[in-house]
Amino acid sequence: MGQTVVCSIVRLVVQVKLLPTPEQAAALETTLRAANKAADFVSRVAFQQRCFRNFDLRKHTYEQVKTAYGLAAQAAQHVIKKVCDAYRTLHANLAARHLGKPGSARRVKAESKPISFRPAAAQPYDDRCLSWQHGDRTVSIWTIAGRLRGIAFTGSAQQLALLAKHRKGESDLVWREGMWFLHATVEVADVSITAPDGFLGVDLGIANIATISDGVRHSGKGVNAVRHRHRELRRRLQAKATRSARRLLKRRRRKEARFAADVNHSIAKQIVTVAERTGQGIALEDLKGIRDRVRLRKPQRVTLHSWSFHQLGAFIGYKAARAGVAVVHVDPSYTSQQCSHCGHVDKNNRPDQETFACTSCGFAEHADVNAARNIASRGEAGWAVSHAA
Ligand SMILES: [Zn+2]
Repeated sequence: MGQTVVCSIVRLVVQVKLLPTPEQAAALETTLRAANKAADFVSRVAFQQRCFRNFDLRKHTYEQVKTAYGLAAQAAQHVIKKVCDAYRTLHANLAARHLGKPGSARRVKAESKPISFRPAAAQPYDDRCLSWQHGDRTVSIWTIAGRLRGIAFTGSAQQLALLAKHRKGESDLVWREGMWFLHATVEVADVSITAPDGFLGVDLGIANIATISDGVRHSGKGVNAVRHRHRELRRRLQAKATRSARRLLKRRRRKEARFAADVNHSIAKQIVTVAERTGQGIALEDLKGIRDRVRLRKPQRVTLHSWSFHQLGAFIGYKAARAGVAVVHVDPSYTSQQCSHCGHVDKNNRPDQETFACTSCGFAEHADVNAARNIASRGEAGWAVSHAA
């Protein structure tokens, strides 16, 4: 007990809100618009000349981006890189057939014209164009109207502490619904992990978002109710298909995502706090097969967003890393059919959704708690194997 092992780097994005004066906001807006107009220009050149590599594209567009759009050297390079990244993503999506088979309407549409950028699309900034004064809680940022100094920013105490200590690399300037944000990347590295005294297993699901092997269940009731309400509204708005309906839909979707993120944050925090207090590690399901594993009736299938599970896993991962709590991922197959008491695997161990009753030894428990216990013991076994000797 008490010995430590090294863990890898955890990378996460921290959002802070900028509080610019009206003049500063105007300069930011002009800059974002110019950068995205420049991106459209670069994108057209890339498309016409079938030239998608950063180095080549820079040769064709760099001077013009600087002179015609008034961008400084660094900003011009970021614009070109942003365009390259967008085409790389598009080409990867085409290759993976996410836009349908060759010749399909969606695919033809995507391939037949250059990628275009929204006037207020996010713009990356590196340390030469953006500097942080954490003590004053201000940033200094390059704009077309010159360098703006002393733009105030705000965020949660926890986020600000993370930023001051661990910010690394580029940040994105983001405009959303009339507000300005910076999305900064934070790297928490080399956190020493305390060798765990047993594991908490976490079972993910629909009725219970997360069930812990100590018997605590985090119910999905609130989240599912909100999702359901949003889904109804979405159906009505989609039927309308007007511009304002589309806009409302977009806002709704964001609101729903924010709500789910809040819930995930809170659950992750509670789980990590218990693990930290009891000196245990956390065992999570490996989520690769979650869509295959969770068999659902149709109305529930809409409810299940695998990204939400991935998000919860990610939140637990970085909160645990910060607290020095070990996390292991385990193979989740048959965790719901296996008896956590005697190990017997049988479909009939699960007479209904909520109940686990072992046909071999008679052990009975809430089905999700039983699954979480299996995950915990697999975590323990996995840790022992990977940290033997
Ligand atoms: Zn049993």
